[in-house]
Amino acid sequence: MKDCIFCKIVANEIPSYTVYEDDIVKAFLDISQGTPGHTLVIPKKHIPDIFEYDEELASQVFARIPKIARAVKASNPDIKGMNILNNNGQVAYQSVFHSHFHLIPRYSSNDDFKMIFKDNSNKYDSDALKKIQDSIVAHMGD
Ligand code: AMP
Ligand code: ZN
Repeated sequence: MKDCIFCKIVANEIPSYTVYEDDIVKAFLDISQGTPGHTLVIPKKHIPDIFEYDEELASQVFARIPKIARAVKASNPDIKGMNILNNNGQVAYQSVFHSHFHLIPRYSSNDDFKMIFKDNSNKYDSDALKKIQDSIVAHMGD
């Protein structure tokens, strides 16, 4: 897609530090290096976000992630774990609208990556949870 920075990386029109590629995906270092080894895995096909995947492409892309994640982890003995993150929509911090998965190596709970899940469980009784559940289930298959 014209004007998509990741399509340009796929086409080698702009350089990247590629660590893996095949006919389906390309994996390359995220320029921000949130933590050392921070890697992006992208489908070569231009897909804006998770909502646009069909099952075939999703399974092809997801199937490749563990192998890439293992290589990133093995690349540095200080890597103790990894967050795998996929942002969808500006509100969810997506800034490049060609779908991608962040592989963020974790070195300690004090490294440069933070993620906060607020615990709101005290605000939901079982009726409220059931209502949310029903609404999601009603749209499954859309
Ligand atoms: P997101 O905010 O989830 O859309 O993530 C987009 C990511 O793309 C950011 O972490 C950027 O650092 C990264 N990024 C943007 N341009 C490049 C580039 N030319 N090469 C590598 N990573 C990039
Ligand atoms: Zn693209």
